[in-house]
Amino acid sequence: MKTQPVQKNETIEVEIIDLTHEGLGVGKVDGYPLFIENSLPGEKVKILVLKAGTKFGYGKVLERLTDSPDRVTLTDESLLRTGIAPLQHMTYEAQLLFKQKQVEKVLEKISKMPDVPVLPTVGMVNPVGYRNKAQIPVRKVAGQIETGFYRKNSHDLIPIKDFHIQDPAIDQAIVVIRDILARFNVKIYDEKGHVGNLRHIIIRRGHYSHQMMVVLVTRTGKIFKHEQITEEILKELPEVVSIIQNINPDKTNVILGKESKLLYGKDHIEDQLLGKTYQISAPSFYQVNTEQTEFMYQTAMDFAGLSKDDIIIDAYCGIGTIGLSMADRVNHVYGVEIVKEAIDDAKINAFNNSIENVTFKTGSAEKVMQKWKESGIDPTVLVVDPPRKGLTEPFIETAIEMQPERIIYISCNPATLARDLKLFASNYEVKKVQPIDLFPQTHHVESVTLLQRK
Ligand code: SAH
Repeated sequence: MKTQPVQKNETIEVEIIDLTHEGLGVGKVDGYPLFIENSLPGEKVKILVLKAGTKFGYGKVLERLTDSPDRVTLTDESLLRTGIAPLQHMTYEAQLLFKQKQVEKVLEKISKMPDVPVLPTVGMVNPVGYRNKAQIPVRKVAGQIETGFYRKNSHDLIPIKDFHIQDPAIDQAIVVIRDILARFNVKIYDEKGHVGNLRHIIIRRGHYSHQMMVVLVTRTGKIFKHEQITEEILKELPEVVSIIQNINPDKTNVILGKESKLLYGKDHIEDQLLGKTYQISAPSFYQVNTEQTEFMYQTAMDFAGLSKDDIIIDAYCGIGTIGLSMADRVNHVYGVEIVKEAIDDAKINAFNNSIENVTFKTGSAEKVMQKWKESGIDPTVLVVDPPRKGLTEPFIETAIEMQPERIIYISCNPATLARDLKLFASNYEVKKVQPIDLFPQTHHVESVTLLQRK
């Protein structure tokens, strides 16, 4: 029985009327939505129906009948196919507008706050080559060691050399390391049989410092000839200051395992943000787009309107970068973060930058906030920068009870931001949201929101 207006493998023509939050074009047949990669609103496309579920389907463009003025010519199809750069077919102006509209949409639909000003997205002058970190799977493809990225919704590796959005020095280092691994006949991980050894190459490179960290993620504890491999890496990549082996024995999509060994140098790199120096260990979070992060922290500070009497809580503080950027201008900063290594970094970062008016605690933000409240800590400004899943209700309850004058909510997910803003609504007024493009060519939307106590 035919329930959907289209069937799998059917060829049809549709007009694109919208974009999903992931940047897929939306075309409708009798109200039934089809999601279509590499298509833009206004474009008429001939598609092959790839999948027709009960509520929606997916299609693939066979032929584009008209072009949107927002379209740019694709430089590399594999970046769309892997999802590395899903907005690569849009002009940068259109990408920035798309992100601003995303935020407006969720504030209206989820928060029921249609009147909150959402400022135009602040973009990059040169929106490519910005990522300071890469996590690259290594696989054998047709007998060759290859580095690249998985085809979307699969684990088939598409070999890629130019990742477009990564620091070109990182792209180059990946190829160099790949070739060294090949020369030494290192066993490469095979996901299907869960055999072989080398799984991922992770590289971090300081935007200002150019210090490079290489993490080789392996399945087993041993890497054959690792001394010689280390030596070769150092010879060919003089920026490397740290080589780490991380062991992940599990059959899992999670990249890092629990155990690490230092193969060479320090267990961290250093980099600068807004004139301060930070050490960054392998397990610690560090914003991937340094240039835009500086603008974002500056925006957070402007929104916070800092003064010498302010007591700041920097929740989800990572290696302490936001709080330490603010510390000179305020009375005291309290930071909380769940990853112990990140808090170790944060404490060293305070010391190295001669900052004494800070307190960093390891723990879950909700628990530590509760403790701080009980011990009478009375913040004037609360900064939150949670992961994609956003804040929890207990955290928000405690935050409201602590009555900070202002809350700065840094978000990497508009949907959870909007959900959380609603929970603050009876006590806090949402003054404005500033989207900042931390992830050009991708659908990720970062923003800074100012909330003012009523
Ligand atoms: N503000 C930092 C880090 C932001 S990323 C920066 O700008 O670099 C979010 C951080 O929240 C990560 O470091 C992650 O380890 C941490 N985190 C995740 N869940 C947490 C929780 N429940 N409590 C405290 N920190 C948490």
